[in-house]
Amino acid sequence: MEKLALLGGPQTITEAPPASLFKWPIITEEDEAAALEVVKNNKFSGRDITEKFQDEFAAWEGSKYAIAYCNGTMALTSAMFAIGLGAGDEIICPTKTYWGSVSQAINFGASAVFCNITDMLSLDPDDLERCITPRTKAIMVVHYFAYPCDMDRIMEIARRHNLYVIEDVSHAQGGMYKGRRLGTIGDIGAMSMMSGKSFAAGELGMLVTDNRKFYERAMAFGHYERNNDKYIKESEELKPYFHIALGGAKGRANQLCSAIARVQLKYYDERCAEIRRSMNYFWDLLEGIKGIRAIRVDESTGSNMAGWYCPHGAYYPDELGGLSVNKYAEAVRAEIGSNQCWEGGNFCLHTHNFFKTFDLMHIGKPSRIAFNERDVRVDDDACKVSETKYCFSVPWFKHYDTKWIELYAKAFRKVSENYEQLLGEDVKAVQGGRWYGTENK
Ligand SMILES: *Cc1c(COP(=O)(O)O)cnc(C)c1O
Repeated sequence: MEKLALLGGPQTITEAPPASLFKWPIITEEDEAAALEVVKNNKFSGRDITEKFQDEFAAWEGSKYAIAYCNGTMALTSAMFAIGLGAGDEIICPTKTYWGSVSQAINFGASAVFCNITDMLSLDPDDLERCITPRTKAIMVVHYFAYPCDMDRIMEIARRHNLYVIEDVSHAQGGMYKGRRLGTIGDIGAMSMMSGKSFAAGELGMLVTDNRKFYERAMAFGHYERNNDKYIKESEELKPYFHIALGGAKGRANQLCSAIARVQLKYYDERCAEIRRSMNYFWDLLEGIKGIRAIRVDESTGSNMAGWYCPHGAYYPDELGGLSVNKYAEAVRAEIGSNQCWEGGNFCLHTHNFFKTFDLMHIGKPSRIAFNERDVRVDDDACKVSETKYCFSVPWFKHYDTKWIELYAKAFRKVSENYEQLLGEDVKAVQGGRWYGTENK
């Protein structure tokens, strides 16, 4: 029996790994030159570079239309406007995700309804029909931590109930579901490209669709300079409203980010392929160990984990004597001498007061239900099970460096195989998680 580092035993990793192993994004002179060109020519606020990026992105994604935004939250907000989300409507979203997937629904007077997640932390199609009512307008699908949702089942249910599907691809840019790019399967794909994501281009967002009407509405909502007859040709309803951003908020992308994004796109698939090879190797080394399972998809189906954003494993405390995931992660951190293992992922959204009481419109009523004749909050209790889908983060390898990947895997294996040393007063399988702005790393 090896003594765990947390209890005073030897650490598994004692030296610092090469910095390039985790560094992301990969920035070369080509990115630097593209950025400098924008700075030198004061091109921040223009559209020329952004429009080139949009064309390249649409071709790569396999979508008819692509519109860049200042960030992913705004791209998702625009998608909600595009489908006509409105007062009293309901939009279903998995409860475990970043707030920017669905919080904006209150800006439209709509109600977010939360759906459960599977062990892979991904929207559970088995829970979807519970959430559908005559007021449901759309489903916000989130390919959480890069795991592609079960789009065949989700689309079948959506079509049967006449619902729109928006895919939040912020964790899975470029990922595949049975041979199709994520973001092209629903009615609209929208995503972040902020600097922490796998497609990292500073602060940027993107919306893709094949639907001309949605494209024109999204354009009019966020892009006052393009809310005109050059871009909006078919939507008669929009024509009286040219030249002002219909969302009352500006969505324009900063071209510094568009310029970097153009360079990043050229190498993105190739770099993601190396990440997947590395992450798959890491998880192969941990296959069959009690208490932990990879969150990854079977690639033989033509699906994949894109750039494997924020890799996590699923945790089963019952297989480890009830050991909390928190203690497990703490023990791994002690072995690896860094904070690359943390429990919980994002907190479930239904637990936040924003969705319980917040009154955006200042009318003495929670905005989440301001225009709904039913109180959707009573359904939140059904999402308690999602709070106990235990998970922990693992290192996000950017390079296929087998020596280091093996060393990290050894640390996880050591903790898993010696979990009994950690049992004691700590038998609450507590999870926690994080809101942003309260960094635990
Ligand atoms: C990052 C993120 C967003 C929002 O994107 P920003 O570019 O940060 O505005 C939306 N949804 C998910 C799931 C995200 O992780």
